[in-house]
Amino acid sequence: MPSFSIDLKEGKLHKDTDLIVGIDLGTTNSLVAYMKEGTTHAVKDRDGKSPLVPSVIHFLPDGGILVGDEAKAKLITDPQHTIYSVKRLMGKSYHDVEGFEQYFGYQIIDEDTESLVKIRVNDRFYTPVELSAEILRALKARIEAVLEQPVSKAVITVPAYFNDAQRQATRDAGKLAGLDVLRIVNEPTAASLAYGIGLHPDDNQTIAVYDLGGGTFDISILRIQEGIFEVLSTHGDTFLGGDDFDRAVMDFWMEQNPALKTQIEAGKGMSQALRLRAEAAKKQLSRSDVFEDTLDGFPLRISRPQFESLIQPLLQRTIDACRKALRDAGLSAADIQHVIMVGGSTRTPLVKSAVAEFFGREVYDKLNPDEVVALGAAIQADVLAGNQKDLLLIDITPLSLGIETVGGLMDVILPRNSKIPAKVGRSYTTSVDGQRNLKVAVYQGERDLVEHNRPLGEFILRGIPPMPAGLPKIEIHFILDADGILRVRAKELRSGVEQEVEMRSQYGISEEDMARMLIDSIQHAKEDVAARALLEARNEAQSVLIATERFLQQNEALFTPDESARITALAGDLAAAAQGTDKDLINKAMEDLNTYSAPLAHRALEANVAQALKGSKL
Ligand code: ADP
Ligand code: MG
Repeated sequence: MPSFSIDLKEGKLHKDTDLIVGIDLGTTNSLVAYMKEGTTHAVKDRDGKSPLVPSVIHFLPDGGILVGDEAKAKLITDPQHTIYSVKRLMGKSYHDVEGFEQYFGYQIIDEDTESLVKIRVNDRFYTPVELSAEILRALKARIEAVLEQPVSKAVITVPAYFNDAQRQATRDAGKLAGLDVLRIVNEPTAASLAYGIGLHPDDNQTIAVYDLGGGTFDISILRIQEGIFEVLSTHGDTFLGGDDFDRAVMDFWMEQNPALKTQIEAGKGMSQALRLRAEAAKKQLSRSDVFEDTLDGFPLRISRPQFESLIQPLLQRTIDACRKALRDAGLSAADIQHVIMVGGSTRTPLVKSAVAEFFGREVYDKLNPDEVVALGAAIQADVLAGNQKDLLLIDITPLSLGIETVGGLMDVILPRNSKIPAKVGRSYTTSVDGQRNLKVAVYQGERDLVEHNRPLGEFILRGIPPMPAGLPKIEIHFILDADGILRVRAKELRSGVEQEVEMRSQYGISEEDMARMLIDSIQHAKEDVAARALLEARNEAQSVLIATERFLQQNEALFTPDESARITALAGDLAAAAQGTDKDLINKAMEDLNTYSAPLAHRALEANVAQALKGSKL
C-alpha cells in the first residue's frame, strides 16, 4: 500500500513506494544499491565519485560522528577516536577475539569473557551493533538524498559463515539505524544473483564465489537447485586481504630504502603515508606496468612483476583454501560451472588469472567486484518487494542447530544445509523420576560435545507433573524463519505445559533466566560432571591409544618383543575400559599404560637425540 510522508527538512510531500534497498555492510567498505525498472544502481556520493563508503567511524571532540572517507582520513591523524573493521566484532564475545586485540588500533573492553565485546572511545562504550548502525545510517542518508525519498526497508548481506549471533547483530544494527531488515542474505548468494545465476527456478548449477576484500578472504562453494542456494562449503582466512598486499609493498620499499625504513621505524608518522602510497601503487598496477612516486624525497618505485612476486605467497594461501573448500564439498574443480570474483582485491590481474587457472575456466569479472554483493542484494530486495513474482529465493542454514542432551552431547535437530524457513520437531523424555523441570539448551555448531559449540540460549520447561523417568513426552520444535531467527518451543504432551523462546543469541537472556540457569546447573551438577568426566576420559583414552600406536610403530626396533607385547596388552586393556562406563577404570588403565611406557619413551627419546646428533656431524 503506497502511503505519503512529509520531509520535514524540505517541507515536501513524498509518496512512499515500497522500495527496498540492498546493503553490503563490509569490513573495509560498505555500499547501498537499489533496483529501478529492472536495472541495478550502486548509489554514489554527492560528487558522483564512488559508491564505496569506507567502513570507518570517527568520533569528533564535540560528540559528532563522521563516517566514510572523512573518517578514513582520521585514521592517520587521530587513530584513537577512529574505528575500523567493526564487522569483525559483530556478535563476538571478548573470548572470541582474544589474541587479536593488537590488530585493532582502538580499545576493546574486556568485562567478562563470555559477554559481547564493547569498544571504548573516550568515556563512552559502544557495541559493534551501535557502530555498524552508524555506517548503515550514513548509507541510508546517502540513498535518501539521491532518491529524495525516505527509505526504511533493506536487505543486508553477511558472509556465508556468519552464525546466528552475527546475523542477529547485523539485523539489530539495521533496526538501530531505522531500517526494517527484511532479509539477511549470504554474500556469495548475492554475488551470484548479481550475475543472474540462480535467478530462475530451473537454473541448476554448482558455483564457486571467490571473495578477496580488504582484510578477509572467503571461498564459498554453492549448489543452486530450483532457486535454493545451498552452501556446500566455505573456507578462508579472516586475516588475509588487500591490506596484506599493501604491507608487502611497504616492506619492499623499506628494504630498498634503508634510510626510509629507519625513519618509519622511528615512528615519524610517515608509516600511514607510506601505507597509502602502497595502496595507490597496488591499484595503479592493476592497470599499468609500473608505479613511480616519492615520499619525503625517497623514491618509491615498483613494477608489476615485482608486485606479483610479492603477493604470490599470499595468493597461494587463497588457492590452498579453494582446494580445501572443494574437498569439503566432495567436488573437484571440473564440477564447478561458474567462478565469480568478488572483493576489490580481485581487480589485481594476477588474482584473476591464478583463480582462473586453478578452476580451469574463465572467471566472472564483468561487474565491479566491490559492488557486486550490493547489486545482488538489491536484486533480492526487488524480489522481496514483489517486483519479480516468478522468482523464488530460499536460503540454507550454514551450521547445525541442536540441543544439549545428557552428558553434554549435542543432539542435532536442524542439520546444517537445511532449507529455511524450516520447522522440525523431536521427542524427548525425562531422565530422572519425578523430574518437574527440563532445561532446553540450544547450541549451534558441528561438534558432538556442546561445550565445543556456540550456545544460543537456554530456558527451562517448568511444571512437568511428577512421573517416573521416561514417561513424560516432551516435544521440542525448532522454527527457523527465512531470516535465520530461531524459535524454540518445548511442550510436555501429557500435561500440555508449554514454553516458547526466541533465540536472539546472547541478547535474549534476562537476569532471571540466568539465575534460573544457574540454579538448574547446580541441581544437576553432579550428574553433569560425572557424564562429562566419562566422556573426557574416553576422549583422552582415545588419543593415548593413537599416540601409543604411533609410538610403537616408530620405535619398534628399540624394544624387546616382550616390551612391545606388554605395551600392546596394556593398550588393549585401556581400549576395553574405554568401551565401558567406569571412568575410574579408564583412568586406571591409562595410568598403568603411562607408567609402563614412560621409561621406554625416555629410551626412545635418547636414541632419537643420539641419532639426530650423529646426523648433524655428517
Ligand atoms: P571488503 O569486502 O573487505 O569491505 P572490498 O571488497 O571493498 O572490501 O575490497 C577492498 C580492498 O580492495 C582494499 O584492500 C583495496 O585496496 C582493494 N582494491 C580496491 N581497488 C583495487 C584495485 N584497482 N586493484 C587492487 N586492489 C584494489
Ligand atoms: Mg566484501
